[in-house]
Amino acid sequence: MQTGQIRYDLFADRHVIIAPQRMRRPDFPEAWPDLPDSAECPFCEGREDLTPPEIFALRDNTPPNTPGWRTRVVPNRFLALAVETPCRPVEAPATGEGYEGFGAHEILIDSPEHRFDPRLLRTRDARAWLWSLRERLRDLRQDNRLRYFALFKNHGRAAGASQPHPHTQIVAMPLVPAPALARLQRAHAWYKAHGQNPFDAAVREAGEGGRLIAESDRFALIAPYAPRFAYETVLVAKHGVPVALWEMDDPLLDEAAALYTALMRAAGAGMGDFPFNLTFNTPPAQPFGDEALWHELSYYWRFALTLSPRLYGAGGLEAAEGIPLNPVPPEAAARQLAETIKEYL
Ligand SMILES: [Zn+2]
Repeated sequence: MQTGQIRYDLFADRHVIIAPQRMRRPDFPEAWPDLPDSAECPFCEGREDLTPPEIFALRDNTPPNTPGWRTRVVPNRFLALAVETPCRPVEAPATGEGYEGFGAHEILIDSPEHRFDPRLLRTRDARAWLWSLRERLRDLRQDNRLRYFALFKNHGRAAGASQPHPHTQIVAMPLVPAPALARLQRAHAWYKAHGQNPFDAAVREAGEGGRLIAESDRFALIAPYAPRFAYETVLVAKHGVPVALWEMDDPLLDEAAALYTALMRAAGAGMGDFPFNLTFNTPPAQPFGDEALWHELSYYWRFALTLSPRLYGAGGLEAAEGIPLNPVPPEAAARQLAETIKEYL
């Protein structure tokens, strides 16, 4: 009988069980089995008056808050954090810490089109999206009280999205959240112990282990060794690329956008309009208390973007112990994607 494998991801500090024998015929759920109508959508072109006034837009000579844009950034209507709030601690019990809700929460509307389909993504749209994200981060970074940016995108009901119109969230915080800090510390410790960048090592090992999907001069697409989700893929920068999106120049964004587009189209070719989460591993934006961790960032960190398809619901073991069961070995996922992606590169 074929058994699975228990694998550990050093940086996520998480065990996963790779369990191919549990492979059901994948049903490839659709992102929006019941696509909410665009009639009421506040993110569609022509409804600019339904959002708070825009903070940023990529548009050609049209006035703010009117049609004629390619991307648009607005404050989140359900604001959890605001820059107007004082940045200071609040009284908390001895077993906790508390801060005022200082920060920023912005929504980047990726496109004027209501419907996103990975099979139809164009490089020019991916470039406009990355470019807009970079511009927002550059602007937010001018406030040196904002130390960390969480960047993420949810597509489809199974991925936790409630709004189908394609959008990306930017949450700027005055501190480095505990899980992000722990990842930085583990990567830094690995670098100290091995004398090399753990991301570079992961790309090399992906090449040796049959998990390299594609690469360009300065980016690689890999299936990680211990992926939490079936067909999880990481777009990771190689040596010499700035660790932060806000430091990248236009040619780098173009290269990343081209590889990202090819990945989306290849994944879509196999899985249709699949639900997914997309996360960036942004480094801290300002010094954050640990001198070595801050000054040595480029030695142990890299820009990376993780695509996590949400094809299967969480099982009981994941709910109880945080151990996901992944029915698709990353070696098999990489083989399939590497074959398909050739058509789109
Ligand atoms: Zn819409």
